[in-house]
Formats: sequence, C-alpha cells, structure tokens
Amino acid sequence: MDYKDVINQIYNEVKPMWGQGKVADYIPALAMTDPRQFGIAVQTLDGEMFTVGDAETKFSIQSISKVFTFAMVLRHLGDKIWTSVGREPSGNPFNSLVQLEHEQGIPRNPFINAGALVVTDRLIDLYPRPKEAILDFVRRLTGNDDIYFDHTIARSEREHADRNMALAYFMKSFGNIHNDVETIIDVYCSQCAISMSCVDLARAFRFLANEGVNPLDNEAILTPSQAKRLGAVMLTCGFYDESGDFAFRVGMPGKSGVGGGVVAYIPRNLVIATWSPELNPHGNSLMGIETLERFTTDIQNSIF
Ligand code: GLU
Repeated sequence: MDYKDVINQIYNEVKPMWGQGKVADYIPALAMTDPRQFGIAVQTLDGEMFTVGDAETKFSIQSISKVFTFAMVLRHLGDKIWTSVGREPSGNPFNSLVQLEHEQGIPRNPFINAGALVVTDRLIDLYPRPKEAILDFVRRLTGNDDIYFDHTIARSEREHADRNMALAYFMKSFGNIHNDVETIIDVYCSQCAISMSCVDLARAFRFLANEGVNPLDNEAILTPSQAKRLGAVMLTCGFYDESGDFAFRVGMPGKSGVGGGVVAYIPRNLVIATWSPELNPHGNSLMGIETLERFTTDIQNSIF
C-alpha cells in the first residue's frame, strides 16, 4: 500500500491544530523546543519508508526510551522481571508516588517513571557500561550510528530530578532498587535525552512489529512471546493515564514521550512515528495522537 497520500493528507488536516497544546516545561531545556514542528514517518515491514514534514529532525525521545531499556532487560531476565515490576495500567500520572506505598515498592508497569527506574537499575546490573549499551542497542535497531544523547537536555533533567530521585529512594527502601540512586538517575536522564527522528524511531520499532526479530540483521532481540507481551504492555500502559483512550481512539500498541514523539505499530505490517512537541494535559503529543487516530481510520486497519 502507498501510504504517502494518506500521511500527506493527515499532515495537512492536523497542522491547523498548532497552538492547542503546550510544550513540556518541567525540564527547562525541553521548554526551549520550537513548538511548530510536525513530522510523520511510516516504515513498512516490506522495507518501504514514507515521510512528511519534519520526519528527519531529531528530538528528545524521553519516555519512548523506556521501551528500549525494557527490551534490553527483558531479553536477559525473561519472566523474572515481572517480580520487580507489574503490568497493569496505573491510572495515575507518569511520575506519581502514591501507589508505591500501597504496593510495597513494586511499580505498576515499566512505563511509569517508577517502573522505568527499576528497569534502568536492572540494566546497570546487567551491563558494565549501561549508557554505551543503550546507544549501541538503539543504533543496531535503526542501522544509524548517528544517534547520541543530547547532553544539554540530560543535564537539565538531572538538575530537576527530585521527584525521580524520590521514587528511586522510596523503592530502594523496599529493596526493589539495587544500585546507587545517583547512578540510576544519571543513566535514566541520559536515556530520556536520546535524540532521534521519526524516521529513526519508525526503524527502531520494527523488531516489535516483526515478532522480536530485527529485520536489518535477522537477530532475535526478543522471542515472539516476549514481543507479544511487550506490545500488550504498550497497548495498556504506553500513554500514561490516557492509555485506555489511546487504545480506544487509535487501536495500536505504542509509546509516547514528553518530547512530543509517539511511535505505534501494527504487528507484521508497519510502524508509524510522529512528532509534534505540543502536549495535551496527559503529557501526550496532541497532534501525534490526532494523527494516529486518523491514520488507522483512513487505512481501515489496526490491531482490532
Ligand atoms: N524524562 C522524563 C521524566 O522522567 C520522561 C518523561 C516522559 O517522557 O514521560 O520525567
């Protein structure tokens, strides 16, 4: 199928929504992003790429990195990871502390900050040079070596990481964090500050749409069962406390980040990545979600 016309039309229809959302400002360096940017990239598993707008511009992937670190840990620990982090939607904002008290320091899922911090902690256990390992993993998935951390954003987030540090210390008190909290926060802020474009992200998520296998070199990153489970957690937990509404409107598993990126996919078919920095009140890209809703409507295809 030729997706070029579909995404061109959506791009033109959605563009007038500029100004309706708000760029994330709780990380000062993110607040400097020019809000008027919008890109879409569709990567099919047949190897075709379709793009429109700012699809090649790199941006801060933020929470989308949680999918990469979780895949890196899942492939090593397998089902053991589920004793430290759950797989239920939280219904709370991404950085909430409240549930942890009741649930003895076991975060609801790997995509809220508490869960992602546990995953980063395990990543530090598994990889002697965790930051290099993350970059290496993402570069292998995309086939693009030109992917780096944005050190300005990482530093800015580290300087405003009180809440994430509180989450990590709190979980440490329950024995669910092993490493030094400063080290975890350093790796976590770097992973969030990876700069990638829509084209990079659409390529990087191919292994998830392809039953765990990276089509670039046929390496099995995850087993088909692990890929299925990771997709299920994305479908139910990938969009903060708007995950149910995203599944309802869009019907694809995916993940968003407060940098304004959204990646979603239809298994065995395609990956779509969108980027627009203005967020809705739940912290998801306003135009990104609108784009994805129109996309599955227009192509009459989704996971349902
Ligand atoms: N770096 C962000 C934080 O932990 C990630 C937020 C996000 O994209 O959801 O606050």
